[in-house]
Amino acid sequence: MRKLANDIHRLFNITILVKLLIAITIYNSYPKAIYVSMDMKQAVFSKGTREQKVVALSFDDGPHPKYTIEILDILKEYDIKATFFVLGIHAEKYPEIIKRQVEEGHEIGNHSYSHIDMRRATKKQILEEFKKTQEIIYSVANIRPKVFRPPYGNYNKEVIEIVSSDDIPIVLWTFYQDSKDWSNPGVDSIIETTLSKVQNGDIILFHDYVYKNESHTVEALKTIIPRLIEEGYKFVTISELINISREI
Ligand SMILES: [Zn+2]
Repeated sequence: MRKLANDIHRLFNITILVKLLIAITIYNSYPKAIYVSMDMKQAVFSKGTREQKVVALSFDDGPHPKYTIEILDILKEYDIKATFFVLGIHAEKYPEIIKRQVEEGHEIGNHSYSHIDMRRATKKQILEEFKKTQEIIYSVANIRPKVFRPPYGNYNKEVIEIVSSDDIPIVLWTFYQDSKDWSNPGVDSIIETTLSKVQNGDIILFHDYVYKNESHTVEALKTIIPRLIEEGYKFVTISELINISREI
């Protein structure tokens, strides 16, 4: 009887020991996994500080020969600065627009060369798309973009590695500030998406390049910008937003 009790006791101890070993193994693998994802998040910026009444307007996929010009005119009228995440392929085609953007104090970001999905691309392709666009913008405007936005917001470890090695952060947008304006959802829908949820530090996503015959974005901006000014928001570029947010 006593032997049986001892055996049960020993078995119980072994069970505890095995559980403990499993727990240690899981514990050891978890922190690494969490660390990797945290590390990835540190290189990815999607919202600025809530401490200041600032927002950053961002425009993707341009330059567009008509809509980008119209957007630049509106920004000039209100004397505000924005960030344009341009495609290398469009920058090559419309270098004069890139020059104007830089001259008028806007920030140029890299949005790849041909809008590939970088999560499905090889390391070589990612590197080419990123570097080529950096060089095109440098040859056109004598500046190198300091921010990168991957097409569709899709990135992986390779994208972070390549972009971070140039000390450039990956910049997405504040998740509720995506009006899907590229699909021409209607002027009112774009206005509603932007203004109904706007908060300090938001990165607002628009598209200056729209593959349709008209752009609802341009019209929507004519309401959005004066309304945000009325509400007391200041407009900053993405690099300014990152700097302000890091200082606080
Ligand atoms: Zn895009």
